[in-house]
Amino acid sequence: MAKHYDLIAIGGGSGGLSVAERAASYGARCAVIETGRLGGTCVNVGCVPKKIMWHAAHLAHALDDASGYGFKLDYFDFDWRKLKTARDALIRHLNKEYLGYLSQAGVELIHGFARWTDTRTLEVNGEHYTADHIVIATGSRPQIPDLPGAEFGITSDGFFELNNCPPRVAIVGSGYIAVELAGMLHTLGAEVTLLLRKDQVLRPFDAMLREQLMARLREDGITVLTHTQVRAVARRVNGSLNLHCDGQAGILNVDTLLWAIGRDPNTAALNLPVVGVATTPSGAIPTDPFQNTNIPGIYAIGDVTEHFHLTPVAIAAGRRLADRLFGGQPDRRLLYENIPTVVFSHPPIGAVGLTEEEARQDYGEAVKIYQTQFRPLYHAFTARPLQTVMKLVCIGPEEKIVGCHLIGEGADEMLQGFAVAIRMGATKRDFDDTVAIHPTSAEELVTMR
Ligand code: FAD
Ligand code: NDP
Repeated sequence: MAKHYDLIAIGGGSGGLSVAERAASYGARCAVIETGRLGGTCVNVGCVPKKIMWHAAHLAHALDDASGYGFKLDYFDFDWRKLKTARDALIRHLNKEYLGYLSQAGVELIHGFARWTDTRTLEVNGEHYTADHIVIATGSRPQIPDLPGAEFGITSDGFFELNNCPPRVAIVGSGYIAVELAGMLHTLGAEVTLLLRKDQVLRPFDAMLREQLMARLREDGITVLTHTQVRAVARRVNGSLNLHCDGQAGILNVDTLLWAIGRDPNTAALNLPVVGVATTPSGAIPTDPFQNTNIPGIYAIGDVTEHFHLTPVAIAAGRRLADRLFGGQPDRRLLYENIPTVVFSHPPIGAVGLTEEEARQDYGEAVKIYQTQFRPLYHAFTARPLQTVMKLVCIGPEEKIVGCHLIGEGADEMLQGFAVAIRMGATKRDFDDTVAIHPTSAEELVTMR
């Protein structure tokens, strides 16, 4: 006989854990089904190990900068393997902590891969489970293109398995992962070539950010090849890879190839046709604004859905869904507007709200742009004359701020507070009336003319 719950979350990542924990806090009987390690992508092969590597790269930059401040550091060595060992241990510790949180919250963990056997029942390792509410939170996995030799390349998952910094790396892609890993690998010692099939990185971002980042990547010493696609990959006897590219690149010889061309939703093996849950051609699950799929009692959150593939989005969608189903808040849902995001490039990017292009499309002549560019005081003594650039997108006579776009040191930590203000409907006047904090880079956001 099938075991019955109030709610089952399929997937023990950011979304699944959040919906189950919040539902259990209201007294619901909940289970999470997870086939891999608790914490999902973010904890195991995403945000957390990525940010550790970003900190390492940040330190490498700081060591370079130190001589400008009078320090004598003639030589420094970097032990990638030592960092990886510490990083892996941290993640194992987090996996254990998540197990503790789940049991404290009274959520049952079912180990194994879930698939539907009939319209009501999930099967995991031969056992059967039913629930009044089933939340699909199965996340996504990295794409590998369909071309000869593509399997010789790694993805972001493989990046976290590297025991050494590869000497020569080619990264294919133009999104978050491509630019983040390009920056880290380059700063930690690799010779990096970034291959873009179009002309710019981060195409959904504001043009200012795209242009600035392209320039910084090149200034830093990363080779950026535009309008270049890999057509085939061959392994040579010495283990290196020949990438046969179109465009002017010809044949590129590297030690490691990394695909960063997007991710596919994990839906193919769930047996969704049995239960009738609709998917898009790419396999993502469309939902209404309340995370309902087309089948009553079945919901989808996080990376398996169509938009905003970020950890805090999966968490927020999960918690609000539980508030709605079990917390007596029938209208509770995540508003997919003004979602702040940071790209951990070097330097980092922070963005919230509309890009200038989007605002001009929606509001035409009513758009007013404020932009500033400056060299932060920190860089007065460094050999890297890195500029910070900030843009505010305002609309109407009251100059309501509908977009904020930052690139430069500290942009990652700066954005959160400004995102609160923008979500609350702040105007340029509100920013102007806020007393600056001096001397910081963030003060420029409240002193723009
Ligand atoms: P996941 O966290 O992927 O969880 C899904 C879980 O479901 C997995 O554990 C999987 O094993 C399990 N599963 C799948 N199918 C089944 C099944 N049939 N049965 C049982 N279990 C199943 N976001 C940020 O906000 N900031 C960042 O800095 C950031 N950096 C990132 C860096 C990288 C390299 C990557 C890849 C992603 C990054 N992200 C970042 C995105 C973030 O990791 C995801 O948006 C987030 O993890 C999505 O959560 P989720 O719960 O939807 O899916
Ligand atoms: P993205 O969707 O960010 O970017 C992938 C890009 O690669 C596409 O937009 C496309 O850009 C390009 N591309 C697609 N197919 C090909 C191809 N065949 N050859 C060459 N280029 C191609 O995906 P990522 O894999 O970088 O990241 C997945 C998601 O994970 C992100 O969207 C983000 O939501 C999340 N993430 C968040 C992070 C953060 O918050 N800091 C960090 C890392 C990931 P174009 O059309 O311009 O060629």
